[in-house]
Amino acid sequence: MSVLVYVENADGQFKKSTFEVVSYAAALAKTLNTSLAAISIGNVADVALSELGKYGATKILNVTSDKLKTFVNQAYASVIAEAAAKESADIVVLSNSFSGKGLAPRIAVKLQAGLISGAVALPEVSDGKFIVKRTAFSGKAFAFTEITSAKKVIALNPNSYKVEETGATAAVENFESSVKDSDFKSVIKEIVRATDKISLPDAELVVSAGRGLKGPENWKMIEDLADALGAATACSKPVSDAGWRPHEEHVGQTGIAISPNLYIAVGISGAIQHLAGVSSSKTIVVINKDPEAPFFKVADYGIVGDAFDIVPKLTEAVKAYKA
Ligand code: FAD
Repeated sequence: MSVLVYVENADGQFKKSTFEVVSYAAALAKTLNTSLAAISIGNVADVALSELGKYGATKILNVTSDKLKTFVNQAYASVIAEAAAKESADIVVLSNSFSGKGLAPRIAVKLQAGLISGAVALPEVSDGKFIVKRTAFSGKAFAFTEITSAKKVIALNPNSYKVEETGATAAVENFESSVKDSDFKSVIKEIVRATDKISLPDAELVVSAGRGLKGPENWKMIEDLADALGAATACSKPVSDAGWRPHEEHVGQTGIAISPNLYIAVGISGAIQHLAGVSSSKTIVVINKDPEAPFFKVADYGIVGDAFDIVPKLTEAVKAYKA
C-alpha cells in the first residue's frame, strides 16, 4: 500500500496548488506509515520534478509522451490509474482544480475507489475508519465523509492545506504508459487563447465587481486594479446576464467556484448565491458603500465607501508599492 499524487502543471510550470497537494499527500503517507510517489504528465523540467522531493515525494513518475502533451481527461485518468496500479497505491490524491474535477471521478471508476472531492483537511484515520472533511452545499457547510472502500481518491480544494517543506530531493523515473487510442474519446486539435488575461479558475488574485459599478463603461478601473496586481477579473451574475461582462467571468452558485488567495469584491452585495462560489477564498476584501451589505460579514477586510473614489486610489497605491 502506498500513496500516489498527481502533480498538475500549466505549460510546464507547477502551481502553488501542486505543492499543496504534494504536502497533503506526504502528510497522509506519513500518517499511514507508507511512501509517496508522484506522477507528472507533460513537459516539466527534471529539476522542477526533483524539487517536489522538498514537499515529501520520494519518487516521481514522469510521462512525456507526445500523445499526452495536451490535457485529455480520459487519457490522463487512464495513465494515473495505471501508475497507481504500478505503485500498488491504494490512495490517489490530486487537486480539485478545473482539470482535477474531471479526472478524479474517472480515476475512481477505473480503480473502483471511493471518491472525496473538495477535501479541506487530512483524513481522520482510526479504528479502521477513514473520514475526510470536505465542503458541501457549494461551500456553505462541511461534511465528514467516511470512505469504506479499500481504494480511495481524494481531490483537495486549492488553498485548504499549507505548503510544507519536509523532504529533500526526489528520484525522477520515466514512466511509459500503455494508454490506448480508445482512451482519447475527444482530442484537442488546437488551443486558441481568447484573451491574454490571467485565467480565472487558476488565478491566485481576483478583482471582481458587481452591479454597484452601474454599467460596463466603468470596468476600466477594475481592469486597471487587476493589471496593477497581476490579478484576473470576475463579476456577479446580474453583470454577466446584462452583457456588461463575458459569462466566463461569472462566479457563484451558477457560475464558477474559485478559491484564490485574494478576492477583492467591488460593489457586490454578497448574496448567498454569489458567496457560494467565492467564500473559500483565503482573504476577502470588500468595497461597498453600504455598511450593511451582507458581504462584510464574510470579509477579512472591508472598506465602506464609493468604489469610484476608492478603486483608483487603491490602484495608484499598488503601483506605487510595486515601483
Ligand atoms: P446588487 O445586489 O444590486 O448589489 C450591488 C451592490 O453594490 C450593493 O451592495 C450596493 O450597496 C453596492 N454599490 C452600489 N453603488 C456602489 C458604489 N458606488 N460603490 C460601492 N458599492 C456600491 N449571483 C451571483 O453573483 N452568482 C451566481 O452564481 C448566482 N446564482 C444565482 C442562482 C439563483 C438560483 C438565484 C436566484 C440567484 C443567483 N444569483 C447569483 C443572484 C444573486 O442572488 C444576487 O442577485 C446577485 O449576486 C447580486 O449581484 P450584485 O451584488 O452585483 O448586485
